[in-house]
Amino acid sequence: MIFRQMFDSVSCTYTYLLAGRQGGEALIIDPVLDKVDRYLQLIDELDVKLVKALDTHVHADHITALGALRDRTKCVTVMGAESAVDLVSMRVSDGDSIDINGVNLTAIHTPGHTDDSYCFTMNDRVFTGDTLLIRGTGRTDFQNGSPEEAYDSLFGKLLSRPDETLIYPGHDYKGDTVSTIGEERKFNPRLQVGTRQEYAKLMNGLNLADPQMMDVAVPNNLKIGLSLNEIDDRGWSLDVTQATALVGDDSAELVDLRDRSERKRHGVIPGSVHAPYLDLDTNVKPGGILHELSKATGRRLVFYCAYGERSGMAVQAANGIGLDACHIKGGIDAWKKAGAPLEPHG
Ligand code: FE
Repeated sequence: MIFRQMFDSVSCTYTYLLAGRQGGEALIIDPVLDKVDRYLQLIDELDVKLVKALDTHVHADHITALGALRDRTKCVTVMGAESAVDLVSMRVSDGDSIDINGVNLTAIHTPGHTDDSYCFTMNDRVFTGDTLLIRGTGRTDFQNGSPEEAYDSLFGKLLSRPDETLIYPGHDYKGDTVSTIGEERKFNPRLQVGTRQEYAKLMNGLNLADPQMMDVAVPNNLKIGLSLNEIDDRGWSLDVTQATALVGDDSAELVDLRDRSERKRHGVIPGSVHAPYLDLDTNVKPGGILHELSKATGRRLVFYCAYGERSGMAVQAANGIGLDACHIKGGIDAWKKAGAPLEPHG
């Protein structure tokens, strides 16, 4: 197991890199834009492949590296379902798992600091973002924050965990790197309250200045979407009506790029095949299933995913390799909104 805690001294942000093993898949939590070169260098040195990049919430104090890492590594971007970000590849809700080879995280929705705040648990530890800090907690006075919800998240979802659970926060301003649930329950001054009301009174009395980067960071972090216009211009995008007409049609092979957990939760397009985005490289290369399928049948590959981000990247890769491919614009999200047919994942 590879675990690295990295620090951005400008915003005092901690970023975490996790991988099952050398040569294996990696994921990164809360990456900072200014540090992208450093992450990529480390990823290279450790000989791992970045496949997922997660943000615990929309940050107000630094610009996220999710978009840059996606553009440079083709990784899948992950955030909570509540985030108002224009485009991320995969959205998670409370209890969802986020898996890569050798690493399994569980998402816990912990609103309060922001309405889209998540913590991610893994075995003996929890990555708490700004929900729980070492001897502190995330402010609740902007971005739809709520001290009452923060109280419920802290006391109901985090502090109920075993004392020895390690806490890896999203920031530290004093130089602490890790704590435990037991330690925070006892010594965190913000947690010495008995009721929601008491916590709200404490948080509402803080009168904090806005973060320096807030006016720049928040708008930037809400717009990380890939420029998909070029794919449209090349005729590689289908809207839902066009794509619906291809269900059961011999000229097209509908290909679902989503993870199994997403297929289970939202259902699948009837007659489609499953070829997860993380295996795309192998699958579209000569000898790969999608390559051979497309050559053998002469069918056009029609990729789809949750929002059209992964499928947009897949279309570029497949056409680049000489296959005939397009994608469903807006993904299953648009498909569902149009009331197009889905069947349960079997
Ligand atoms: Fe924050």
